[in-house]
Amino acid sequence: MLTMTPGPTYIHEDVRQIMARDFLNPDIDEKFYDFYFNTTRKISKIFNTVNEVLILCGEGILGLEAACASLIEKGDRVLCIDNGIFGNGFKDFVEMYGGEAVLFTCDYKNAVDVELLKEFLDKDSSFKFATLVHCETPSGITNDVSKICPLLKKHGILTVVDTVSATGGEEIKVDEYNIDIALCASQKCFSAPIGLTFLSISDDAWKIILNRKTPVPSFYCNLAAFHGWYDKKWFPYTMPVNLIYALNEATNRLLLEKTYVKRHRTIANAVRFAVLSSGLSLYAESGNSNTLTSVNVPEGIKFKEIYEEMLNDHNVMIAGSFGIFKDKLIRIGHMGENCREDRVFSCLYALDQVLRKRNILNENRLHLKFAEKI
Ligand SMILES: *Cc1c(COP(=O)(O)O)cnc(C)c1O
Repeated sequence: MLTMTPGPTYIHEDVRQIMARDFLNPDIDEKFYDFYFNTTRKISKIFNTVNEVLILCGEGILGLEAACASLIEKGDRVLCIDNGIFGNGFKDFVEMYGGEAVLFTCDYKNAVDVELLKEFLDKDSSFKFATLVHCETPSGITNDVSKICPLLKKHGILTVVDTVSATGGEEIKVDEYNIDIALCASQKCFSAPIGLTFLSISDDAWKIILNRKTPVPSFYCNLAAFHGWYDKKWFPYTMPVNLIYALNEATNRLLLEKTYVKRHRTIANAVRFAVLSSGLSLYAESGNSNTLTSVNVPEGIKFKEIYEEMLNDHNVMIAGSFGIFKDKLIRIGHMGENCREDRVFSCLYALDQVLRKRNILNENRLHLKFAEKI
């Protein structure tokens, strides 16, 4: 079975094997604290930051909630930059912790328009922080964090970036872009098992977290509970050792390869070329992501039919989308270990077969056009 969804992604055998390694009690074994620390330093290389990195026990959503819980005090104004489902969803976390969410809503078919954001901020910039999604996974759009975050910071606004489906596939330079909290998860481009969030925290963000007037109304989401963990040799809860072994190994693979951003760019370009050459259309008008591709479901077939036939006749699992995109998009994940020529070729071959049977494609074959461009 080929799982070509935009996360969770295929896990390399080396990463799966390491999960089975024997381990000691991570609360007591001093060596574990160094192992955890070394893993965070490797992640910081991928993030391009000198900021502290934490690994939390919980799926990616924990990172979004922990950032909001730890930064917000009652009545704080937070700017939620919204050009998709995850961007919009930040509003819920902000309100849950007593913040006032102000949405900057843009066109959902395009990457965030930096000029429009500039105009908006010239009129109103009194926000404690802003939330932004690097790659909007439900629609396959990547926002230019390299321009948006420095602009926000210039207005004195801290930045929280959900880079769950981007880092490890798209370029990220946390320090250069001025990202205060960059949060990511194990099961997307890192191709590690589901269950971990990791995030970088700037000195400015730590200052806010450690100097609150009111306590964080959560224990699990309170980042301050981790402060000074290395010196104290203390975590707020027992760490999932085997998941961290796996994440460490998956990070080693990225660091060893070095050129993973280029690999994602090359494969994504070839997928888009194949899609357009065969007469299909892309959902996004700009900002097409390099970690997944969203294709409009063509006339004459329903998403469910495509999904089931690819699964049953070809053993390939692709994803549809949800919310306002339900039944409208075919999403092909080419992130992490799925971003390999052979896997993408087989996926496009299956899609070609399913659609060609119904005379939906022109004479160009999806997989062959992909191969031509690679
Ligand atoms: C996958 C993902 C998350 C984590 O959410 P789940 O729906 O639980 O997988 C958060 N943000 C983005 C942008 C994601 O792609």
